[in-house]
Amino acid sequence: MNKIYLSSPHLGQEELHFVHQAFDTNWIAPLGPNVDGFEADLQDYNKVAYAAALSSGTAAIHIALRLLDVQPGDYVLCQSFTFCGSANPILYMGAKPVFIDSEPNTWNMSPAHLQEAIADLHRQGIRPKACIPVHLYGTPAKMDEIVRLCDNFDIPIIEDAAESLGATLHGQHTGTFGKLGVYSFNGNKIITTSGGGALVSRDEALIQRARFLATQARDPAPHYQHTEVGYNYRLSNVLAGIGRGQMRVLDKRIAQRRANFQRYQDYFATWQDHGYHIQFPTEPEGTFCNRWLTTILVDPKQNKGLTREDIRLALEKDNIEARPLWKPMHMQPVFQEALFYGDGTSERLFEIGLCLPSGTNMSEGDWELIFKVLDQIIADW
Ligand SMILES: *Cc1c(COP(=O)(O)O)cnc(C)c1O
Repeated sequence: MNKIYLSSPHLGQEELHFVHQAFDTNWIAPLGPNVDGFEADLQDYNKVAYAAALSSGTAAIHIALRLLDVQPGDYVLCQSFTFCGSANPILYMGAKPVFIDSEPNTWNMSPAHLQEAIADLHRQGIRPKACIPVHLYGTPAKMDEIVRLCDNFDIPIIEDAAESLGATLHGQHTGTFGKLGVYSFNGNKIITTSGGGALVSRDEALIQRARFLATQARDPAPHYQHTEVGYNYRLSNVLAGIGRGQMRVLDKRIAQRRANFQRYQDYFATWQDHGYHIQFPTEPEGTFCNRWLTTILVDPKQNKGLTREDIRLALEKDNIEARPLWKPMHMQPVFQEALFYGDGTSERLFEIGLCLPSGTNMSEGDWELIFKVLDQIIADW
């Protein structure tokens, strides 16, 4: 039986054209015309920010922290409810993460707890060197408040838009609110280069420096000359070709992800007639969500004791992948020493939340099977 994945790559018609071009011209290197073209496509798409195509979203966050001159022992504010790729680069720099809880509306960084953290650190004479909010599952964070708070204390923002390419707030693309923004093109994201990422900024000089640091910080000289530590973080010209093709279907993929979300919402509405109440995240006013993954909350108290694990395990039996929401970073053993400001919101979301299969290439047969298994859960309960 074929497995139904949470989110599998979905290629269009044009990726191979660009990949063939790379082969035909022998540009099989971590630089080249597809990399330039992909960066231009990203810039055209989000309208304002220059882009550096990199080997992953995690690499982009690492470079962003370098650009902000984060030093060992510095503090960096970071959303707790996220994937480890948002936070690991803080440790690469020898810096200290300070995790901020979510608020219930967007599930993203709580401005109230951010304020509490900034004030508390300020009292100790500490100014955090960066703040990393995340637009989780493609829902924009409360950037108006976050930007205002960070501006007041001169804390630069690195927006982790790895999951939110195409999502907007007041019509402005996520990733363009902060000093730096990050996208990911990992295999499970809304578009993919198999593995890849990008760093974006309105500041062209910063992006030029990012490209320099990502190519081993090679100084201009006929020989190899280095005055700084660099990284090997550029995207390959072959993979950037996939990215160029994927950019042409991005808006279509977003429409399809949003249709997936609507389909689940319509389906679970039928559960209400049986006394169940599955909750969905809202689309907060002023936002456009890309609905990368459809997520639900299953509060056992409102669902006759049924838990998200009951649903996940039933789906798994039929080879259908579903997954709990991200386990907050402040609960992860690797970050046990980190500071945390919060009230239990993200812990609760982790406890009752589930991601459902959300690929854009699921067949009608896949959908039928998913709904059949879900129907059976309440029939047996
Ligand atoms: C995927 C992801 C990243 C990291 O991206 P990679 O390209 O996999 O390194 C960072 N943050 C979030 C929230 C992500 O979902």
